[in-house]
Amino acid sequence: MSSSHRNGTSKTTRASDSQTYPCPECGKDEMRRLKADCELLDGIVVPDLDRWHCFACGEDFLDSAAMDRVAEIRKSLRPVRRAIARKVSGHKHA
Ligand SMILES: [Zn+2]
Repeated sequence: MSSSHRNGTSKTTRASDSQTYPCPECGKDEMRRLKADCELLDGIVVPDLDRWHCFACGEDFLDSAAMDRVAEIRKSLRPVRRAIARKVSGHKHA
């Protein structure tokens, strides 16, 4: 019996989010969309960041949407410390 079994992979007709692309860093065809916490170089963790991730070398690649997200997180994390109310000690009485 020559049953031509398929490769076991049940192909879901989902969008192209499971598609892999060649990684610009290592060249392997292992780069795909990943949505997970992402720690940036400066230690900031962006929760559930949608970005490209290479499963071969572990490199993250942020597209413009991800960049925007990062910028927003950065903005919200960094307290805008401007115009610290100057303490004027001692009222000058005339
Ligand atoms: Zn890679």
